[in-house]
Amino acid sequence: MVVVAWLSGQTAPTWVENYRGDTRKLTELSQSSDFAWRRLAEVTDTFGPRFSGTEALERAIDWAVAEMKKDGLENVRKEPVMVPKWVRGRESLDLIEPVRQPLAMLGLGNSAGTPAAGIEGEVLVVKDFDELTAKSADAKGRIVLFNAVFTNYGATVVYRRNGPSRAAALGATAVIIRSVGPAGLRTPHTGATVYDEAQPKIPAAAISAEDADRFQRLADRGVRIRMKLSMEAHFEPDAQSYNVVAEWRGRELPDEIVVVGGHFDSWDVGSGASDDAGGCIVTWEALRLMKSLGLRPRRTVRVVLFTNEENGLRGGNAYRDQHAAELKNHIALLESDGGVFDPDGFGFTGPDEARAAVSAIAGLLKGLGASTVAAAGGGADIGPAAEAGKIPMLSHNVKGDYFLIHHTQADTIARITPKQVSDNAAAIAVMAYVLADRGLR
Ligand SMILES: [Zn+2]
Repeated sequence: MVVVAWLSGQTAPTWVENYRGDTRKLTELSQSSDFAWRRLAEVTDTFGPRFSGTEALERAIDWAVAEMKKDGLENVRKEPVMVPKWVRGRESLDLIEPVRQPLAMLGLGNSAGTPAAGIEGEVLVVKDFDELTAKSADAKGRIVLFNAVFTNYGATVVYRRNGPSRAAALGATAVIIRSVGPAGLRTPHTGATVYDEAQPKIPAAAISAEDADRFQRLADRGVRIRMKLSMEAHFEPDAQSYNVVAEWRGRELPDEIVVVGGHFDSWDVGSGASDDAGGCIVTWEALRLMKSLGLRPRRTVRVVLFTNEENGLRGGNAYRDQHAAELKNHIALLESDGGVFDPDGFGFTGPDEARAAVSAIAGLLKGLGASTVAAAGGGADIGPAAEAGKIPMLSHNVKGDYFLIHHTQADTIARITPKQVSDNAAAIAVMAYVLADRGLR
């Protein structure tokens, strides 16, 4: 990651110095209580995972609307979005040879199911697409296991997204992937797969890194591996959901907008605390902190809790379409969807002069450890609007084991401390407040 720090020895511009007092007030208020952490606990404890198409997500959305009104935020509303409804159903993966043993597994989101009797077959273990190509004659009629060791998300998520169709093209009957994440406690990670419409839709599931290593060792010894995969996964008709929107209106230019937010839906395992209730709570908290201090920036700060990021991105696309007429008035969009661990700073994508302003604002956040500005920023949910409106984008960046628990049963608030929530909320509050007060263009 390339980091553009405010050059040491170079003094920050005068306009930034004028915000030091407000920075201190926002930070002190945020750090004075564990209010936001308790709110994160409440949503994850009460509603559990918030998967698209479930009643739990819609109850959580209604709760958020009621809480935002209690906070005294303005223009609190739900904006309708139709979302896909994929249902996991019961699922299992059994090792048959060399020994019978049930395996920890999670079907991949959007996967097709198996016939009721399951799919049993011999397993072909490959490390990557090149090895699959080299062994393409062996794939027919087999279950292909992609054992791509996690390096970073972008490099290994391709096996989750594209592995099933790549194997189906060679006649494979099902796909198992090594989970996209580092080895943890033998934990499988789910996540969306994307079928190539030209290929048969074969069922796909993830196993833990530890088990993938075991099957690699067995294959390397020439041991025959057989497995049986059973999945009830299927789609039901699209369901009604909503983006949640609330504002802290600007005092001089209320039609000009800085958006902050995250996605309120999660996968159907764990409780989606890091991905992404935490991002929703810290961006929402930024508005509550400003409101509590009576700090009203010149422009409007709007929080959006997007629906259906995980298996459809319908919320982000709907925001772009429903707000098309006002995208020209959006100053910047900021998304928190990388977890709420120790703060690091932000990522930024936009014009150079705007980057200089963002870097100067981040310089106010040295005390929180949130002063870095990485070379690129953005987020899945804000991407569609940013692209359509050519709007600068920021990501909220943290240091932590996000991918260790990402899309697993272990994504719970147990991993997140009150201090991390308070510090990140303060950093986002300062960034959003100054951006909205000063503007970027
Ligand atoms: Zn996410």
